[in-house]
Amino acid sequence: MNYDHSLAFAQHLDQTDPLRHFRERFYIPQQNGNPVAYLCGNSLGLQPKSARAALEQELNTWQNLGVEGWFDKPESGEQPWLGYHTTCKEALSAIVGADPSEVCPMNALTVNLHLLLASFYRPAGKKIKILTIKGDFPSDQYALETHIKHRGYSVADVLIEIAPHPDDNLIHTTDIQKAIIEQADSLALIWMSGLNYYTGQVYNMATLAETAQTHCIPIGFDLAHAIGNIPLRLHDWGVDFATWCSYKYLNGGPGAVSGVFIHKKHHEQNLPRLAGWWGYREDRRFEMTPGFLPAPGADGWQVSTPNILALALHRAALSITAEAGMVALRQKSEHLTGYLEYLLTRFDGIQIITPDDPNQRGCQLSLLVRKQGKKLFTYLTEQGIIGDWREPDCIRLAPTPLYNTFEDVWRVGSVIEQFYTDKMEHGLV
Ligand SMILES: *Cc1c(COP(=O)(O)O)cnc(C)c1O
Repeated sequence: MNYDHSLAFAQHLDQTDPLRHFRERFYIPQQNGNPVAYLCGNSLGLQPKSARAALEQELNTWQNLGVEGWFDKPESGEQPWLGYHTTCKEALSAIVGADPSEVCPMNALTVNLHLLLASFYRPAGKKIKILTIKGDFPSDQYALETHIKHRGYSVADVLIEIAPHPDDNLIHTTDIQKAIIEQADSLALIWMSGLNYYTGQVYNMATLAETAQTHCIPIGFDLAHAIGNIPLRLHDWGVDFATWCSYKYLNGGPGAVSGVFIHKKHHEQNLPRLAGWWGYREDRRFEMTPGFLPAPGADGWQVSTPNILALALHRAALSITAEAGMVALRQKSEHLTGYLEYLLTRFDGIQIITPDDPNQRGCQLSLLVRKQGKKLFTYLTEQGIIGDWREPDCIRLAPTPLYNTFEDVWRVGSVIEQFYTDKMEHGLV
């Protein structure tokens, strides 16, 4: 697309945007009475206006039915709480490209990662190592360390970290493939994010899953930044397992419920797991008998009674993403991010470290600011542009297609221009 710098151009794109009405479904935070340009959906997505009613409905059921809410159909005609989680499955499976039996909303991301590592990290003989990405999200690193130490190994002996390529500071698929092939005899597991939280780079999950499969090594992905952001086809790619959170691009609310994907090929294997009664076969759960019998599919990884209020928020938000559809969302997202990139490339002091190939990124651009980065970030915030700051010099901006406008993106260019003009006048840059 040919972009231009004028506000009129941005407004024209907004007027012709087929998803423009979805913005009205969200509360946009205000600053001095005006909506901010909220480019922080990679950290916490905005509140859908439907969230309150969804919560209220379950509060009413609790109020009116008490414990019978688990089994009785409430007045709303809603699903009893016992099967409530299943009502998220259709939307979730469409978003991650899976069969409904392969997904289950539950717990929080890092908790799920621990559960999945208990099942999928099964070192034996010479195959004890774990391959991952250097500088991946810290919580994932802590979880991997935990499981390595738990099995009596040392992190230095077991963990292999692929470093960014010195040429472009990105992780190359070929580097990962090379490591998989070289270490195939000693690898027990591959675990990495699907989209890097810091650089915004998307990894080629399909190719990596294929290479892993060829060498019979289970591969799992952390999809915290990928879900609701980029198209996923976990089942077809042959990914073994995955987890994500729903408070970023899925707008499920602070600390919202996470979810897991477990590929069908593992459903009949009765994998070892950290079991709890909620993962027990639903038809016999209340027999309270000893000896764990897992529920079929991903549901068999549940541990505890689900948080229905959290699920209500999750489901209300999910239905918006599902209604817009990942194909349309992605199409708009590529334009929004392409436009942001176009507006930023004219500033010499800013380097975009996110790949310029749309197939290797989601909506987020990560900017390294050579001088006065923190000052620029503060200035943006004061002018109503909400992004986030990562020490020592990185600003992350994530225009999201559900509620951001092209005018939001235009404001970024305009405010940065103001910043440099002001600074230049005062001899500060
Ligand atoms: C946000 C994020 C998490 C957060 O984990 P929680 O357990 O939900 O706190 C984990 N991994 C990645 C890659 C993330 O971006």
